[in-house]
Amino acid sequence: MHITNESPIYALSKSDEPVAKVKPGEVYTVDTHDCFGGGIKSERDKYGPQYWGTVNPATGPIYIEGAARGDILAVHIHRISVSDTGVMIVVPKMGAVGDWIRRTETKILDIRDGCVIFGKRRMPISPMIGVIGTAPKGSPVPCGKPGEHGGNMDCKLITAGSTLYLPVNVEGALLSMGDIHAVMGDGEVCVTGVECSGTVELETSILRNTSLPTPIVETDDVIATIASHADLDGAARNALKKMLKLLETRFGMKRNEAAMWMSAFADLRICQVVNPLKTCRMEAPKSALMASGLECRLC
Ligand code: CA
Ligand code: ZN
Repeated sequence: MHITNESPIYALSKSDEPVAKVKPGEVYTVDTHDCFGGGIKSERDKYGPQYWGTVNPATGPIYIEGAARGDILAVHIHRISVSDTGVMIVVPKMGAVGDWIRRTETKILDIRDGCVIFGKRRMPISPMIGVIGTAPKGSPVPCGKPGEHGGNMDCKLITAGSTLYLPVNVEGALLSMGDIHAVMGDGEVCVTGVECSGTVELETSILRNTSLPTPIVETDDVIATIASHADLDGAARNALKKMLKLLETRFGMKRNEAAMWMSAFADLRICQVVNPLKTCRMEAPKSALMASGLECRLC
């Protein structure tokens, strides 16, 4: 199954008609637009109000057969291929460094052979998905906003080889994704990563009778709980609360032991500080889980 990006959506909603239906275990590909919907094509194209309503288009929703409310959707990302150019912008007052930016600038960066040409240097890329989520419980959530359903988390661990666990709030889960970055640092401080269109190859499976404090991302090296809040303190607290819950319910630790384990061995990190809600993650290293005698795969 190949799902094209012909009719992008700008909010994740439980009432959207699915663009495709896939079966658990089926490998499929999804084309996505860049976060500007392809509207910024040259360095003369400057970011402005014309983009406000249409940033972060996503492709979807994709209906996963058999997914029912209360299940957990495991999204196994096999591969992310990116376009051969990427876009970056800086804009005065935008992002975490915007106070020190004096003029708007657009950069179109060439991407080839696993590298982005930045200035005159070739820098390695590490493609990741900025926006990915299931249909939220209540009213539609704009694609630019992160939340309990996923969305614009801008977590750089959401990359090829990792598995993202998301809640299933409605029948079929209604998965959508977009806003791929060829590379992005934690924080996404200037408001863009290297913004790309691209194609994601993935597989989705359903976990039943499992409780996980979603969203969680699992890589070869870590299991990380992800949370968002209006400010970073709140995002950090929410990510910690989820890890505490995971260590208690999944790994059988007592509360105080879990708190000490986290404090000794796990790493609290920032995903992004530039979206309407900020996002943090708490990373439990698999090496530490293993050393503690705990199994370290979630599915
Ligand atoms: Ca983003
Ligand atoms: Zn982006």
